[in-house]
Amino acid sequence: MTITRLKPTKCPACGYEIDGATGVEKGTTPRPGDISLCVYCGAISIYTRGMGIRSATAFEESRLLASKIGPKLLWARAEIRKAGPLRAK
Ligand SMILES: [Zn+2]
Repeated sequence: MTITRLKPTKCPACGYEIDGATGVEKGTTPRPGDISLCVYCGAISIYTRGMGIRSATAFEESRLLASKIGPKLLWARAEIRKAGPLRAK
């Protein structure tokens, strides 16, 4: 997994400050249009051109969850929500 530092941005769902991303595929870094899964609340977001993130629309989220990566997204979101919010350092 590749960890990338990002310009700090807030999760549109929970406000958690996101300053990094971990790619799920080796050697990948986020690009505009890629999916972000908040490690704090499990919300699905989309990277913007300026490498901020915006909430996925209901349509985008339903398409993603019905796609071949849908089961992995649902599993990851369930694990994040089961673990509960990360504690501040
Ligand atoms: Zn969040």
